[in-house]
Amino acid sequence: MAALRYNLQQVSRLTPASHIMAVIKSDGYGHGMLRVASALSKADAFAVTSSDEAIKLRKSGIIHPIILLGDGAGKSELSIISKELLQPTVFSFEHIRALEQTCLPRPVDVWLKIDTGMHRLGFHPQEVSEVYARLVRCDNVSTVNFMTHLANADDRENPMTDLQIDLFDTSVAGFAGQLSIANSGAIIGWPRSHRNWVRPGIMLYGASPFLEKTGEENGLRSVMTLTSEIMAVKMIRKGEAVGYGSTWVCSEEMPVAVIAIGYGDGYPRHAQMGTPVLVNGVRVPLVGRVSMDMITVDLRKCPRAVPGDPVVLWGTGLPVEEVARKAETISYELLCGVTQRVSFEEVDEK
Ligand SMILES: *Cc1c(COP(=O)(O)O)cnc(C)c1O
Repeated sequence: MAALRYNLQQVSRLTPASHIMAVIKSDGYGHGMLRVASALSKADAFAVTSSDEAIKLRKSGIIHPIILLGDGAGKSELSIISKELLQPTVFSFEHIRALEQTCLPRPVDVWLKIDTGMHRLGFHPQEVSEVYARLVRCDNVSTVNFMTHLANADDRENPMTDLQIDLFDTSVAGFAGQLSIANSGAIIGWPRSHRNWVRPGIMLYGASPFLEKTGEENGLRSVMTLTSEIMAVKMIRKGEAVGYGSTWVCSEEMPVAVIAIGYGDGYPRHAQMGTPVLVNGVRVPLVGRVSMDMITVDLRKCPRAVPGDPVVLWGTGLPVEEVARKAETISYELLCGVTQRVSFEEVDEK
């Protein structure tokens, strides 16, 4: 909890002139949405994907503005959006028509999404003036704000980010409304993208938006530490294989530990041999395939370890980015993928 608060402060330090909408979609990137919202109560707003998530936040007593990044202003959502004071994204002409044709208990603030190059959601820059005019005229709309999403902010060398920012500026020139461009990568890497609202996600959880750097190297504190313990230690003889597929063969007699974690818990099955695991604080390499409930590690660097000894899979002492790289994925997927059978323990410090 303290790390979440610390990382939010880091966002404030980097973006002193901006409001912060803390992105807590996908169950707070796997950390538990309500607990994350409570730690981040100093954020100016929360952003989630769906109205279902927003309703959960409202039911738990959250009164912050809530922005919906995924569920737009569709017909089926509008009455709940208006009732719960949610701010939808408007990214299609169906949304405009729904807003024009419904009768809402109170008008809503909306975010007009502009597609500046991600080519996922949003209006073409040339459609913006027409869409803006219709929204401003609409009785169900109180304020119109503008948002775009960057496709390459995680790559500091990529020239596309500057092009997207320029195109956004041209698209909104002359219109009134709050502006928002920056995800974590842009918050750290592109100060010129900050504008009225920033939208940090991954950096709040202490992980890096950049491929080549860890969260810690970006001045962040890791929030989730995934731990387990040793179930068994065995001596395996030279020439014997370990695990499914017998993919790994001992080159000499050596101790191997079996650890209680697997893809059933969200540990990535594609983690390659050599993926680091911390046993008693010592880095040892994964060997053999990841099973549903177990992994095996080469204990030669930590030969005295016994069943019950503590193991860290990622988090404090072992950056999640390193494990992600070895599994050919990104930290986002590992954090979001921790499964329900893993028990969560909330830790705070004053
Ligand atoms: C998820 C999301 C973010 C947060 O991105 P991070 O890379 O995690 O900082 C920001 N904006 C939108 C539209 C998103 O969907």
